[in-house]
Amino acid sequence: MPFQDKIVITRNPAETMELAAEVARELEDHAILALRGDMGSGKTCFVRGLAFALGIECTVNSPTFTIVNEYRGHRLLYHVDLYRLTSPEDVLAFGFEELLETRAIIAIEWAENARDLIPDGTIDISLKCLEAPDEREIIIRRTRHTQTPL
Ligand code: ADP
Ligand code: MG
Repeated sequence: MPFQDKIVITRNPAETMELAAEVARELEDHAILALRGDMGSGKTCFVRGLAFALGIECTVNSPTFTIVNEYRGHRLLYHVDLYRLTSPEDVLAFGFEELLETRAIIAIEWAENARDLIPDGTIDISLKCLEAPDEREIIIRRTRHTQTPL
């Protein structure tokens, strides 16, 4: 599996976008990215970097009210925002499982709200604001695939 886990501190939005572009280069076509972190931690900024690297030229904003936006660049990207869907039942009702089955690249803001509905093998991206106003700690790791029982 080519994907490398990493912890990076970015010092401005451009660095966060560049980190996302690096991640984009390693993604398989049907990767799922679960973005976690407070409001303003840079989740949408990260997805912007991802979209740019995938050749998507339109403006990317959090789909807080539409829940999901579809973008076509070199590859298909769904940008999901679960901020308003606070229970797994709400997340299911919106059609989350069907979306996962599309096998596009799926970037999910407020992935916390989907709890156990996030599949194993997802790339988990946790963003945290540090003391300096423009610094963010970004931890990227792939969640482990569940072992098949003997
Ligand atoms: P979220 O989607 O997590 O609510 P946004 O990406 O919409 O966050 O907003 C992040 C805000 O923080 C933007 O205003 C951005 O300009 C600012 N910012 C400052 N430093 C950084 C950084 N290092 N990485 C990302 N965003 C940053
Ligand atoms: Mg956002």
